[in-house]
Amino acid sequence: MNVITDPSAMQRAADGARAEGKTIAFVPTMGALHDGHLTLIREAVGYGDTVVTSIFVNPTQFGQGEDFDRYPRDLDRDAPLAADAGCDILFVPSQSAMYPGGHATFVNVEGITEVLEGKSRPGHFRGVATIVAKLCNIVKPHVLLLGQKDGQQVAVLRRMLRDLQFDVRLVVVPTVREDDGLAMSSRNVYLTPEERAQAPVLCAALRMAEERIRGGESNAGVVREAMRGMITSKPLASIDYVSVAHGESLEELVRIAPGIPVMISLAVRFGTTRLIDNTTFTL
Ligand code: AMP
Repeated sequence: MNVITDPSAMQRAADGARAEGKTIAFVPTMGALHDGHLTLIREAVGYGDTVVTSIFVNPTQFGQGEDFDRYPRDLDRDAPLAADAGCDILFVPSQSAMYPGGHATFVNVEGITEVLEGKSRPGHFRGVATIVAKLCNIVKPHVLLLGQKDGQQVAVLRRMLRDLQFDVRLVVVPTVREDDGLAMSSRNVYLTPEERAQAPVLCAALRMAEERIRGGESNAGVVREAMRGMITSKPLASIDYVSVAHGESLEELVRIAPGIPVMISLAVRFGTTRLIDNTTFTL
């Protein structure tokens, strides 16, 4: 595996791969790699002759008071994990290479960024859309792989790729979970043992909600209330939001009906740790 830190060198490597007729598959990450990320990289091997993974803790997607400073960073641990999963090029740019002085251009996807994560974390998706657009211009992928774990991020980036006419195919990989259902996340390491023991309630609430809907419950408000009840039964859990929304517009649903894509999602705090999870389906 080749480790590249300079964006221009990455662009030359991408041009070289394309000149040889190779397909580039790209997995952007913020590092602290876990089995969720590694599953994306393993999947990427099936889509590309050259698999590129980026590790960049993107400052513009963190709000004030969020965990940018304490976000786990360990390249010595991450690099061999990425290589074992099938990564050919690990792109690890510095902050000054990605945001040199005078950087003034941002990508703003309107509408769907104003709800859910976008409402709780103003400016978050502006940072996400900007960095992914920049990374696509540097890595020049044919295929971009994203995790369903960040459901709204998928919807926002799908919109951006379409609206800005990126010549990139999007592949979404299902959420990878621990044995007890907790979605794998780089932030799980922040949890105390007591919080970790209660955190699987997120996944349990999503499963319960989907079962209630599949069992005939069509009132989205009833489903939201049932999820709230289940989550608040855990004393360390504090709900940020619980949502039963249209899977594409992300507008909150009143009624759930056959043929309508549904995204059930939630954000819950355990102490200082904020966890998100979601499930999507169409009846
Ligand atoms: P992050 O490092 O959190 O920015 O995540 C990088 C990519 O990995 C994103 O596309 C995430 O959606 C994806 N990802 C993170 N956790 C998981 C997971 N548990 N299962 C599947 N994909 C994940």
